[in-house]
Amino acid sequence: MKEPEEILKPESQHFIEQAIEKDLSEGKNGGRVHTRFPPEPNGYLHIGHAKAICLDFGMAEKYNGKCNLRFDDTNPTKEDVEYVDSIKEDIQWLGFTWEDREFYASDYFGKLWDFAVTLIKRGLAYVDDQSAVTISEQKGTTTQTGNYSPHRDRSIEENLDLFFRMNEGEFEEGSRVLRAKINMASPNMHMRDPIIYRILKTPHHRTGTKWKVYPMYDFAHGQSDYFEGITHSLCTLEFEVHRPLYDWFVDQLMDSDYRPRQIEFNRLNLTYTVMSKRKLLELVKDAVVSGWDDPRMPTLCGLRRRGYTPESIRRFVDLIGYTKVEAINDVSLLEYAIRENLNERAPRVFGVLKPLRVIITNYPEGKTENVELINNPEDESQGKRQVPFSREIYIEQEDFMEDPPNKFFRLAPGQEVRLKGAYIVRCQSLKKNDAGEVTEVYCTYDPETHSGLPLADRKVKGTLHWVSAEHVLDAEVRLYDRLFNDEDPSGHKDKDAREFLNPDSLAILTGCKVEPSLASAKPLDKFQFQRLGYFCVDYDSKAGKLVFNRTVSLKDTWAKLNK
Ligand code: ATP
Ligand code: MG
Repeated sequence: MKEPEEILKPESQHFIEQAIEKDLSEGKNGGRVHTRFPPEPNGYLHIGHAKAICLDFGMAEKYNGKCNLRFDDTNPTKEDVEYVDSIKEDIQWLGFTWEDREFYASDYFGKLWDFAVTLIKRGLAYVDDQSAVTISEQKGTTTQTGNYSPHRDRSIEENLDLFFRMNEGEFEEGSRVLRAKINMASPNMHMRDPIIYRILKTPHHRTGTKWKVYPMYDFAHGQSDYFEGITHSLCTLEFEVHRPLYDWFVDQLMDSDYRPRQIEFNRLNLTYTVMSKRKLLELVKDAVVSGWDDPRMPTLCGLRRRGYTPESIRRFVDLIGYTKVEAINDVSLLEYAIRENLNERAPRVFGVLKPLRVIITNYPEGKTENVELINNPEDESQGKRQVPFSREIYIEQEDFMEDPPNKFFRLAPGQEVRLKGAYIVRCQSLKKNDAGEVTEVYCTYDPETHSGLPLADRKVKGTLHWVSAEHVLDAEVRLYDRLFNDEDPSGHKDKDAREFLNPDSLAILTGCKVEPSLASAKPLDKFQFQRLGYFCVDYDSKAGKLVFNRTVSLKDTWAKLNK
């Protein structure tokens, strides 16, 4: 039989929570939970990082612990303060705080150097004069043991002398490295005398020209966790095979019982998306997209510009959960999460993307009346607004057909529709240009059908959104589609993801018309354009020229609901 406490525990507890709770119940680390999020500042964060951030900060929050932000900045050739700043902005935007615990692996370069010297003195590290290519060739394979470097048995004195001179700048980049002396026959390739220091002469964004040798990520990462007193080092599955190496370093160098415990979880991959910083950087550099924050990018700044909310991203991460099995998550689940969130929070407005002028011939010329509309049926507290109605309005071109099929419940000659919040109108005639395109539609309205009047409830099959021509604001609307048209663009052995770029991932519509209440809309404000989808004001938006990004379309339209 289950204990009552067990029954009360949520079923959804994942394996990392279970592991942490077990450690806590065994009194490990004095009951402390301390995690860290360890980005390399070599690109902008993407939604995959959000999965790690939610876990690292989330576990600390849940277990009354702490989470450090630590930049693993061991490679000055790829790193930049621009990335450091953007990473901080994005974590805060997601709703997490590292308080005063902003650390850098480069803060530990001195300590790491000292450890490397200790390893040399204990005969556990040596300077190798071979090139990285040769070293890699000697590593062997999973079925074949590696070969010893001819420099493996250098004397401690010679190793120390060379290592110091490497850091004086005496040798060229790539001419020498420091390697840990572990085991060239280990079944784990990472244990075959891994490189732990390399010569780099690029100045570092924090330490300047102080160092000419830099620790490899694998040499810095585990020890940095140790220095910071991290109890649970949560990382993605590809680091599982690195764990014995991290443990080996800590075992050699440390003199207490405390060890950071590394637990690996599955990466977030999304369909129709590439998720590696390196590949995203290429898209930026080659101007395939407009920048890291192009709304088609899976970066957090791109998603933000697109109109995604932190809540929707956190919700999505909750929905996919944490496991030990690699998978690709369906991007439509992310779209579900943002729809759900925007449905609750985004005010409804009228916007017409491809306008068609409609003249209501029996409506008094020069008259304007305000119709009252509910801002959000999901949230009464958002109140109501007044939208001007007049004799000339715009409707969506595709809401009119001269020669409609059966079941077209929108506007057509002789047919009636309701203008949402206003009157029922009937199409009487139309005007075409020389190309045969409909340019104007003439309707009559039934004055008794406005709300509060006797025929307000008269039923018609279609309801359309509209804007008053005299009162509209002009807008540009950017419609986005998937950046790649293959489900797994990075998953092809012989093909570059770029071969699967979707040529139609961006469509820019100019000449759109939106209701006047949007005059004061600010960048990142979010709206539901009724019947069309969720839209967000872009940074390029200015008074007089509004610019909107479509975040996501609506699943259902009123036409469908009315059936
Ligand atoms: P990329 O492979 O995209 O270049 P990275 O792993 O090199 O990313 P880091 O800056 O090293 O990026 O990542 C910081 C943390 O984020 C690491 O703990 C890493 O495991 C985690 N992380 C990176 N990508 C993902 C992902 N797709 N899903 C979940 N966690 C991720
Ligand atoms: Mg990395």
